[in-house]
Amino acid sequence: MAKIIDGKALAMRIRETVKKRVAEAKAMGIVPGLAVVLVGDDPASRVYVNTKKKTCHELGIYSEEHTYDNSVTQKELLEKIAQLNADPKISGILVQLPLPKHLNADQIIEAIDPRKDVDGFHPVNVGKLVLGLPGFLPCTPAGVMELIHETGTTIAGKECVVVGRSNIVGKPQAMLLLREHGTVTVCHSRTQNLAEVVRRADILVVAVGKPGMITGDMIKPGAVVIDVGINRLPDGRLVGDVDFDSAVKVASAITPVPGGVGPMTIAMLMHNTLEAARNLV
Ligand code: NDP
Repeated sequence: MAKIIDGKALAMRIRETVKKRVAEAKAMGIVPGLAVVLVGDDPASRVYVNTKKKTCHELGIYSEEHTYDNSVTQKELLEKIAQLNADPKISGILVQLPLPKHLNADQIIEAIDPRKDVDGFHPVNVGKLVLGLPGFLPCTPAGVMELIHETGTTIAGKECVVVGRSNIVGKPQAMLLLREHGTVTVCHSRTQNLAEVVRRADILVVAVGKPGMITGDMIKPGAVVIDVGINRLPDGRLVGDVDFDSAVKVASAITPVPGGVGPMTIAMLMHNTLEAARNLV
C-alpha cells in the first residue's frame, strides 16, 4: 500500500513559514498585497477566489478583489491591470482563469507587470523558467515539486512522465522536473499507447481533467504518483484523474484528491506574493 502524501499538512507548514515571514516583512514596512481579478459567475472560480482571499487574511497579506460580470470589455480589464501595476499596495496580480471566450486571456496576462505576476504565467516568467533563471514559478507545478520532495524521492535520473501539456500545469511541470535532472516524457491527447508510456514512470504527474483515467494497472510498482486533476462527479464527490483505489495498491506514494495538490497551489501563491513584495522594494 502506498504512503498517502498529505498535501494539506505540507501546505499548512509552508503557510506557517510564509505567515512568519510576512510579519517580519511588515516590521520592515513591506506589506504584501494580492489583487484578484474575477470575471463571470463560474462557481468553481468563485470558490478558488474566496479561498485565496481567506488565506491572504489568515497570513496577514492584504488582498482586494475586482469582480466583473461577463459583459466586461478587454479594454476595461487592461485598464484595471494597468492601474494595479502602478498601485504600490499591490505586489501580486492574479487573473482567475478561465476567462470568458470574448476576452483575450493571453493579452491580459501579458499586460501584468512580470514582477507582480505571482501566477507565473507571463511570457517573461515562462521564459525564465525555461532558461533556469530566477522568476515566479507557476503555483501548481511548484507545489507538485514540493510534494515530490516530501516523499524523499530523488528526481535526478528518474523516468518522469507528465500527462497533460497545458501552459499552466503540464508544460511548466515538465520543465521543473527537467531542471532537477529527471528524464521527462510529456503525454497528451495524441499520445499513442498511453498506458505503456505511463508504466515507465518512476514519478508520474497527471493533469488532464478526466476522472479516474489512470488506473493501477498502468502504474509501475513503487512509482510516486501526483494527481493534479480535480473533477466533480454527478453525485457531488471530488475526484482526481487517477483511480485512487487501484493506484494506491501499486504506487509507493500517492496524493489524494482532495487534500493533495490543491492546498499546495494556494500555499505557493502566498509564497510568491510575499516574494513579489520583497522584490519590489
Ligand atoms: P487543460 O484542459 O488545459 O489540459 C488538459 C491536458 O490533458 C491537455 O494537454 C490534453 O491534451 C490532455 N489530455 C486530454 N485528454 C487526454 C487523454 N485522453 N490522454 C492524455 N492526455 C489527455 O487542463 P489543466 O492543465 O488546466 O488542468 C488539468 C486538471 O488539473 C483539471 O482537472 C484541473 O481542474 C486540474 N487543476 C488542478 C489544480 C490544483 O490546484 N490542484 C490547478 C490547475 C488545474 P491536448 O493538449 O492534446 O489537448
